[in-house]
This record gives sequence, structure tokens and C-alpha cells, in this order.
Amino acid sequence: MLTVAFLQLDSEIIAGQKPSDHCAVVGIIGHNPVFANILISLKSLQHRGQESAGIATFDGEMIHHKKGMGLVSEVFVERDHVTPTHLSGAVGVGHTRYSTEGSKTLENAGPFMISSSIGYIALSHNGEITNADKLKEDLKKKGASFMTSADTEVLLMEISRDITESGMKNGFRVAMSRLKGAYSCAIMINDRLFALRDPHGIRPLTVGKVGDSYVISSESCVFDVLGGEPIRDVKPGELLEVKPDGIETIFVSPAKKTAHCMFEWVYFARPDSTIDDVEVFKARVNVGRNLAMQNSVDADVVIAVPDSGRAQALGYSMQSGIPYNEGLIKNRYSDRTFIMPTQKARSDAVKLKLNSIRSVIAGKRVILVDDSVVRGNTIRHIINMLRNQGAMEVHVRVGCPPIISPCFLGVDMKTKNQFLAANKTVEQIRQEIGADSLAYLSIESLTQSIGKPGDSLCMGCLTGVYPVNITGEKYAYQAELEGY
Ligand code: SF4
Repeated sequence: MLTVAFLQLDSEIIAGQKPSDHCAVVGIIGHNPVFANILISLKSLQHRGQESAGIATFDGEMIHHKKGMGLVSEVFVERDHVTPTHLSGAVGVGHTRYSTEGSKTLENAGPFMISSSIGYIALSHNGEITNADKLKEDLKKKGASFMTSADTEVLLMEISRDITESGMKNGFRVAMSRLKGAYSCAIMINDRLFALRDPHGIRPLTVGKVGDSYVISSESCVFDVLGGEPIRDVKPGELLEVKPDGIETIFVSPAKKTAHCMFEWVYFARPDSTIDDVEVFKARVNVGRNLAMQNSVDADVVIAVPDSGRAQALGYSMQSGIPYNEGLIKNRYSDRTFIMPTQKARSDAVKLKLNSIRSVIAGKRVILVDDSVVRGNTIRHIINMLRNQGAMEVHVRVGCPPIISPCFLGVDMKTKNQFLAANKTVEQIRQEIGADSLAYLSIESLTQSIGKPGDSLCMGCLTGVYPVNITGEKYAYQAELEGY
């Protein structure tokens, strides 16, 4: 049993301690083949999911698709000769996945597709449907059958059924009244393309223009990569039709309050993306500044846990005047999870992922800035490494308040007892990770850093209060949802 425990601990360190993000969605429509630009978009959004990737296109008569397990570059390898000719058409959707619901198998990979009485439907989804089990039972009673364990299939079947029964506009309205949870989607119905965002706008979704095409994307960085321009975020509760010549709002039915996931700014999204009008990099620099203002300590150098803690460390340095330096180097090519057979091999694998620079660390009082701490094994390992390299003091500053509750809305943080901060004081955590001092960002400073009111953000994993009803958990806005 002891061996199993060790294996789990070390494999977690090797895999990384950060929660995995859910999925990336892309949809493109224009006058020319879209495959190549969907592929580039998915590569740009690879950080949102590395488990599987897929693309579906429509050529005016037929749907074409390919999906597989692994990175985008592994699924669409050149030796397979997957070219625009194979996935032809001027409209298509793409998806990368990290499962938060359903098992890690090919049949659960996106986009999900069906041939229905209204034609081919292909759907890419980011988020999590919290009442998927109930909807699935209801749909089964009405004759639907399911091939997978993914909540996205339930979402697709619900939308397909409601559109078939009530027409396009009313069908989407009916589906939205039944679906609970987080859903940002790109949906292709034959040669039409739609963007759909849940009434709270929990997960991001944005639209832009690239040449003579219009693009739906989880993040705005895609528009820069493709040489285009952002147009705007999809509004919470909006169904948007994206056409070859422009965009058209079909309807907007928002909840009374938004509940944008705060973790997008803290950790998930690329720093070069802007989400709901707030640049991610800017929010992270603000976080670092606030950390320095509220939790200052004398030190010689500020370093970041790479890569996602860099902007926060930079902000800390700017505010405190303590120089920023690169103290930790991440090996970009050791990201994939693996379990080594011996203790020595496991230890070597940790070093393979992350190493420190002695000249930056030795003899110094170090401020170590991380964007967030979930399970705590990586930060403990890094502190050890810094001390072994001769650090005189290690002061940890965390750019997110303590994570104490699971996420039910599309992020891989499911079990309460996996959180380092659950049921512990900051002092207890400091002792456990072996830091000289430890400070977390406050919730007030987090909302101020993002620049949005606290009640417009989802902070369920920090407070246990969620924007939708989660059985057995507290919820914030359910009364408003019922009136929706
Ligand atoms: S619970 Fe946390 S991670 Fe999940 S959507 Fe809310 S803020 Fe984001």
C-alpha cells in the first residue's frame, strides 16, 4: 500500500500540480476551405486540452471529420496526409479536450456529431453540464440512445431534439432552459455556424474576423495568430449565428448576474488573450502588484514558478522594486504524464521537468511567486530544490486565494481532500510546504486585479458558493436561474 501511495504522489509531481483545463472550441466560416485555419487555431489553444483533438467540416453536401487521442500535432500528423482536400468545406468546427466529465476515450473526443432529421450537426463544447445525468434519463425515456459517457453528447442530443421539435430559434431557447452549468459552444448545422454561451458566461467565448472568414474561439489569441482582429465576446446567454459575411445575434437571454470563471485570468488562459474585455496578462501583473502591496518581505530576488507565474512575479517585482530573475527553468518537452518504475527514476523525472539556476538562487533571500496552489506537491518540491541550491530564505507568494472546494463547471478539480488548503490555516500550510513565509492573494485583491465586481465572477472553488445549483453545495444565483 505504501508503494502505491508513493507512486501516486510522485506521478502527481511529474504530471504537474495544476488543475487541467477543460477544452478549447473553434468554429470558422468563410468562402474558402477552413481546415488549415482551424488546425492553426487548435494548436494555438493546445494549452486548454491535450487529451484529444478533432475537426469536422461541411462541404455543402457531406460532413468530413477526423479526431484522435493526443496533441493536435499528433492527431493531424503529416504522414496521414490529412490536408484541406480531405477535410474540405468552407465551414467547420474544431475541439481539443481534457476530460472533466466522461472517460478518456476516443468516443468521448470532440467535436461530437450526429446526422439528424435537420441535417448534420457537429458540436464543440467547453464547460460542464451539471444536470447531464437527469437530462440523459429524460432523453432516453423519449427514445434517445447514447454512445458515450460525455456530457457533450447529452448537450448535442438535447439541442438536436429541441430544434427538431421547435425550430431553430425556439429549439435553442428550449434547450437553454433545460441545460444547467457551463457551456461555450461552436455548433455547425450543415452549412450554418452558431456560437452559444450559457446565461452566466462561465467559460470564455469570442468572435473575430480573419481575412474574409469569421471565427469563433475560446480565446482571442487565435485572431492574432491567424492575422485577424477580434470583434467581441459572445454575450452570456447569447445565440449568435456566424455567417460568411458577418455575425447576427439570434437572441440573448442572460442570467441576472454573470459568473465568469476567475481561474481563466489566474491560470488557464494564455496571457496574450483578452477575456470579457480584460487582458489576461494585465490582470496577472495586477495580481503580482497587489501581492507585493499586501504581503511585502525583504528579499534579494523575485522568481516565478514557470510558466504561468511569470506575469505575477513581474508585477511583484515592479511594485516592490526587488529585481525579477529567471530562477527556474521548465523543460517544455516533458509535459506528458508518466509513471517511472523506481524511486530514482521518478526523482530524475521531476528534475527533467523543472530545474533551478544556481547563480540566481545561491546565497539569496528568494521570493517565489506561483499563480495558484492546488495540491501542493510541486511547490514543496521546488522549495526543497531552492534550498539545495543554496537559497538562504524562500518566501512563497500565491496569486490566488486558497482553493478549498471542487469545480463542477468544467475544471479538473473534483475531490475536496486533494486541496492543500482545505481545512488548514495558512501557517499550517507554510509548515507543510517548508517555506519561510507564505501569503495568498485575498479575494478582494483578486477581483480588483481582474477589474470586475466579485459578484460578476464565479469563485466557487474559493468559497464553495456556485452560480448554479450543485446538489449538496451552496449556490448563489439559483433563484434567478429559475426565473430564466
Ligand atoms: S469553481 Fe473555480 S474553476 Fe470552476 S468555474 Fe468557478 S471559479 Fe472557475
